[in-house]
Amino acid sequence: MKIAVMGTGYVGLVTGALLADAGNTVVCVDIDERKVSMLREGHIPIYEEGLESIVQRNHEDGRLLFTTDAAEAIKKSNIVFIAVGTPSDHDGSADLKYVLKVAEQIGDNMNSTKIVICKSTVPVGTCDKVQGVIAGRTDVPFHVVSNPEFLKEGSAVKDFQSPDRVIIGASDKEAAETVGELYKPFMRRSDRIVYMDLRSAEMTKYASNAMLATKISFMNEIANLCDRVGADVEHVRIGMSLDERIGPHFIFPGVGYGGSCFPKDVRALSRLGHEFDMETGVLDAVESINDRQKLRLVSAAREHFGSLEGRTFAVWGLAFKPKTDDVREAPALIGIRALVAAGAKVQATDPVALENAKHELADLGDAVTFEHDEYDVLEGADALLIFTEWNQYRSPEFDRILAALKSPVIFDGRNLYSPAKMKKLGIHYDSIGRPTV
Ligand code: NAD
Repeated sequence: MKIAVMGTGYVGLVTGALLADAGNTVVCVDIDERKVSMLREGHIPIYEEGLESIVQRNHEDGRLLFTTDAAEAIKKSNIVFIAVGTPSDHDGSADLKYVLKVAEQIGDNMNSTKIVICKSTVPVGTCDKVQGVIAGRTDVPFHVVSNPEFLKEGSAVKDFQSPDRVIIGASDKEAAETVGELYKPFMRRSDRIVYMDLRSAEMTKYASNAMLATKISFMNEIANLCDRVGADVEHVRIGMSLDERIGPHFIFPGVGYGGSCFPKDVRALSRLGHEFDMETGVLDAVESINDRQKLRLVSAAREHFGSLEGRTFAVWGLAFKPKTDDVREAPALIGIRALVAAGAKVQATDPVALENAKHELADLGDAVTFEHDEYDVLEGADALLIFTEWNQYRSPEFDRILAALKSPVIFDGRNLYSPAKMKKLGIHYDSIGRPTV
């Protein structure tokens, strides 16, 4: 099939590259000229394991093209994906300006019957809006299909190649089946395509993300309670996980969820409820628990040191989770801002997110410095704060940590080390929901 993908970010690029890899001809469109020229030279603008070689191979074979020319890409395609961002608006609702702009472009260039697939995460009713915008600009028949994306940054290629499920929402059966055909190459093990109406498909995406965010906030609340009552959340977690109705996934306590999806999607779903005069108590609690949890390590540091004024802190991990360079709404960035606001200096590192974090924190000036080596940031610091559970932080050389830190203090937001071992090493060790031994 001939496909245009509007928006070449984390979702659009993976979608375009893997649909090209399955034999389709794909044009990826972006308004960001820098991204497009990098991609044309065979480099990907994001860190995503395994993606660059797929992009290069398909680009060289002529199946995967990159352009800023939306009109031409739309005209040459019979399927157009919308994969642009849907960030939070000032009131927490999803800002649909990028999606609706693309809908206008599609309407203006509708030279033949097309299927328009909304892959961006959008509130219920958005596909109807897209339908209205396009229909207002053309008489050529077309179909709008909702096909929300569930890939995870860090394992996006694998997730797209073998998805748990593909959701297709449509009012036209034939259009839905044509979209289903696109995913057949990824369904060889078993068919996991679920067909439904447009609104249910849009809701499935939000409900899934909100459920996952709820699990995280729930476990963080349990962890904080464990802290108060002297229980160990790691034992509690394992004990809970053996109940088949609960399971082991996504019940790890930590410093809260971040990234470009959960925070904005929980907010947007809550806003949708309010729009329809419905209280969304669970969602509101999930968000406020998360906001507090992101500052959990800074509160622990304040409890330990008293004033943070004039102190220096080392930070390990800036990405919102391992295996990505995405720092959008990352707990580390919120923690760093709080430390600097309290008068502290920060020395930070991350294996792949340094450049993005530098850009995001540029307004803090020299209150934050960045190093590639995780041991370099420890030099002269009063304590180490761990925000992201990168594998290389799991078994560090503790003698080097002890030699570099001014005082042997670690605030671990990901429960990476054994409290007993830390005690033996003479480290003041504060983790999430586990008693200090
Ligand atoms: P992103 O910010 O990485 O990429 C969006 C891209 O769209 C940018 O490169 C931007 O320049 C481009 N763009 C904006 N307007 C455009 C236009 N008119 N024409 C062409 N390009 C345009 O966003 P993302 O993380 O890929 O997310 C895209 C959507 O997918 C969002 O709705 C998000 O919620 C959803 N989603 C994201 C993930 C994820 O892990 N990132 C997972 C599932 C779903």
